[in-house]
Amino acid sequence: ELHNTILELKGNIRVFCRVRPLLPEEGCSTDGKIISYPTSMEASGRGVELAQNGQKHSFTFDRVFAPDASQQEVFTEISQLVQSALDGYKVCIFAYGQTGSGKTYTMMGRPGHPGEKGLIPRSLEQIFQTKQSQQPQGWKYEMQVSMLEIYNETVRDLLSTTNKSASDATRVENGTPGKQYSIKHDASGNTHVSDLTVVDVQSVKEVAFLLNQAANSRSVGKTQMNEQSSRSHFVFTLRIYGVNESTDQQVQGILNLIDLAGSERLSRSGSTGDRLKETQAINKSLSSLSDVIFALAKKEDHIPFRNSKLTYLLQPCLGGDSKTLMFVNISPDQASSGESLCSLRFASRVN
Ligand code: ADP
Ligand code: MG
Repeated sequence: ELHNTILELKGNIRVFCRVRPLLPEEGCSTDGKIISYPTSMEASGRGVELAQNGQKHSFTFDRVFAPDASQQEVFTEISQLVQSALDGYKVCIFAYGQTGSGKTYTMMGRPGHPGEKGLIPRSLEQIFQTKQSQQPQGWKYEMQVSMLEIYNETVRDLLSTTNKSASDATRVENGTPGKQYSIKHDASGNTHVSDLTVVDVQSVKEVAFLLNQAANSRSVGKTQMNEQSSRSHFVFTLRIYGVNESTDQQVQGILNLIDLAGSERLSRSGSTGDRLKETQAINKSLSSLSDVIFALAKKEDHIPFRNSKLTYLLQPCLGGDSKTLMFVNISPDQASSGESLCSLRFASRVN
């Protein structure tokens, strides 16, 4: 009963929490474990409990995935949401959490382990399968992909052929802004990013090729925590145009899959200089995202979309009858308990 009221209030916003397993290099000793679950961490698990400095902190989400949850299990919970993009909805799925908490694993999977594909490849497989299976009913779909990152409040096109990774790295290190992409929304609620590369795609394989290209042109930075830690937001967008040739029905859906920049606070990543500037930009856009989702959930009149590039870019896909899902990714190790608590608090505000 209460749950329904909460869902009613939140509209189309859901928050899932995923706790990754301890990694072999972190040691599997039980004293390293700081997160415990309500005894029923089955399919209906919604609670997560974290003990820090002798205090227990409990949080409830729409769904909690324990460390043993497989990629397939996680995908099963979101496949309906992915399907709704084919039905003409605008969908956003975010991964939020500190560097090393499992955002990229959740979104993309583990490189070289096809059984551990993340939800981007799984979503694409499902969408292209459905495209095929709906042909007999007269449905024809066209799909377009774009991929960008937002780094220091600047949009960068990851599919631009002139966007070579080597020269980009230099550009980022020098802190010189690259090409300025401007974001515009038209009257019918479509977003246009000037000069952004948009590619027509016919198969999962084609998108996989583009994902690879995008990965090679991303900004990476070195922090104490993770050499390849991502200091930028990665936004994957699939636009779907469907026409039914026998009924003349038309649908236009969008699926946005967003691997957010690491949410860690300043001290832990030892930021100074350019890194400090990056971290401030990241903090600003993550708190703007939280403000927007919170304002939407509370159905406030003013939604502060314009406070960051990320929220402005996604504006048409966050309000109205669009559907939003936020994964909050959590590391299970003792050393991360402070960051984990911050992430859980961030996400429960959104929740
Ligand atoms: P992030 O993108 O948040 O920085 P990653 O997704 O790169 O974190 O995860 C950090 C490490 O943990 C990677 O080596 C990844 O393969 C591993 N990992 C993350 N989540 C899981 C999981 N659910 N199961 C197994 N390994 C995981
Ligand atoms: Mg990552």
